[in-house]
Amino acid sequence: MKICIIGSGLTSLILAKNLIKKNLYVDIIYENYQKEPTSARTIGITNQNFQFLENLFPNLKSRSFSIKEIQIFNHNDLDSALLKFRSNKINQMYMFKYYEIYNYIINEVKNLKKLKKIKKNLKILDLNYLSNKYDLIIDTNLQNKFSKKYFYKKIKKDYFSKAYVTILYHDKIDNSVARQIFTKKGPIAFLPISNDSTSIVISHKKSIGDLDKSYIEKLITKYNKFYNNLKFSNIQSFDLKFSLLKSYYSKNILAFGDKLHQIHPLAGQGFNMNIRDIKYLSKEIDQKISLGLLIDNTILEEFENRRKSNNAVFAGTIDFIYEFFQVESRAPKFLSKKLFNLLNNSKLLSRYSSIIADKGI
Ligand SMILES: Cc1cc2nc3c(=O)[nH]c(=O)nc-3n(C[C@H](O)[C@H](O)[C@H](O)COP(=O)(O)OP(=O)(O)OC[C@H]3O[C@@H](n4cnc5c(N)ncnc54)[C@H](O)[C@@H]3O)c2cc1C
Repeated sequence: MKICIIGSGLTSLILAKNLIKKNLYVDIIYENYQKEPTSARTIGITNQNFQFLENLFPNLKSRSFSIKEIQIFNHNDLDSALLKFRSNKINQMYMFKYYEIYNYIINEVKNLKKLKKIKKNLKILDLNYLSNKYDLIIDTNLQNKFSKKYFYKKIKKDYFSKAYVTILYHDKIDNSVARQIFTKKGPIAFLPISNDSTSIVISHKKSIGDLDKSYIEKLITKYNKFYNNLKFSNIQSFDLKFSLLKSYYSKNILAFGDKLHQIHPLAGQGFNMNIRDIKYLSKEIDQKISLGLLIDNTILEEFENRRKSNNAVFAGTIDFIYEFFQVESRAPKFLSKKLFNLLNNSKLLSRYSSIIADKGI
């Protein structure tokens, strides 16, 4: 049984390790792709997904920083949080520097006996040929001719916003509370990654060219009520888009990862959605193996049937939360407080908390 994974991002590597653990053979077709050690990018993984990953990568915890509480603020009242999420039993999130988790995972995966690494230009792959060579192909890159032809129909939305990320260095404190502030220009997140450094993710309406460093630093300083003696790392920017592929598979080829669904990073859920897809695919493959059945494209049909609606509802909820807070951040303070008193028993709140607590919706 041989499976081919196209691409060597985090999602591909985790999926490869998961499949090899089932004694399957995996070929990864990749291009030169390295995450820079100077990257300011971080990633937050929810509790249940972290447990799943820890099973595959036992030393993951030592690379992480635990978030015990998440607080949500409106920009015009930074003294009292509109919403708070905390549990005595579980951490809300595990934060990682992107390049650190990537380097750790690639080192764990690259020398596995059942893994073959094939370096190729991903744009000129012939998937018609490869589909006869492998039982399954999982494409996380979609740059080849076949995937461009079959995986192009999408539900799309442009937020006309960019995400700016930087690391904020500050005096040492007990730094276990993540904070999200909804401003008129978009959300700003303060995500602790150690007791003296915090990852900042700013979503900001697009301007001509990138916002300059001093503007971003002033913005962070304006909303910072939590840290002293600030220093900033380099700043990176990312375009923000929402997209959901309409077809998940063709023949025995499955589109996967961010190419399948991309969402606003406000709740730190894009990669978490990928992990949930891996979990589901893994369960399906286990079932086939336990019944002595072949791993073929019936799996892909079941995967699409199950995950497409789940992913659509989940992505739609994140988008709704974004739009809701865009409107809410423009409301006067007294109205906003009333609204949140009302919302305390609402569906929106229970959905938001289930997203954060990773129970799915
Ligand atoms: C600002 C921001 C913050 C985020 N925060 C979170 C968070 O806290 N929690 C969370 O769950 N999600 C978060 N996300 C989403 C998360 O970063 C993505 O879901 C995740 O990185 C996708 O990993 P991947 O391996 O699937 O995709 P990618 O790393 O994009 O890789 C996909 C494919 O493209 C190829 N590729 C990508 N870049 C290159 C390159 N430069 N050169 C060659 N090939 C390349 C890879 O090999 C692979 O084939 C955030 C996103 C943004 C923009």
